[in-house]
Amino acid sequence: MGQFAVIGLGRFGSAASLELMRLGHSVIGVDINAKIVNQIADQLTLAAVADATDEHALKDLNITACDAALVAMGESLEASILCVLLLKSMDIKEIWVKATSKPHHTILSRIGVSRIIHPEEEMGMKVAQSLSYPMVNQY
Ligand code: ATP
Repeated sequence: MGQFAVIGLGRFGSAASLELMRLGHSVIGVDINAKIVNQIADQLTLAAVADATDEHALKDLNITACDAALVAMGESLEASILCVLLLKSMDIKEIWVKATSKPHHTILSRIGVSRIIHPEEEMGMKVAQSLSYPMVNQY
């Protein structure tokens, strides 16, 4: 099974990391907030309090060995971009990133991340498709 790093364990990052665990993978979760890390620690392979913009901290956690990384720090553009650059310098090929604004999206696409995720927009579309489905069947 795969080894994943999830950086930022807010609502999005924690849901993704728990689902990866449920699917049988190994997950290293990182968040700067100790309270958040403590809440999820016993459910992940490893959960650590660290600043994801600190290269040494990421290396100490063996993030370099991960097959893929999910960067889920939506609010801080600076932390998100810096962290992506570090992950790229560690030669992690599969980097998926949550984006929260147009400028954030533009920068991420320029630096070549594998996938840019817009949770609200993507979920809105999925909900509309599910909502439309029973209606279509009525005709
Ligand atoms: P969500 O919607 O998933 O709850 P959000 O878009 O509101 O999240 P943020 O508030 O940016 O996202 O943060 C997500 C998580 O990332 C938070 O738990 C926060 O503590 C963590 N985080 C923010 N900056 C850093 C950093 N430099 N290093 C590690 N974790 C960080």
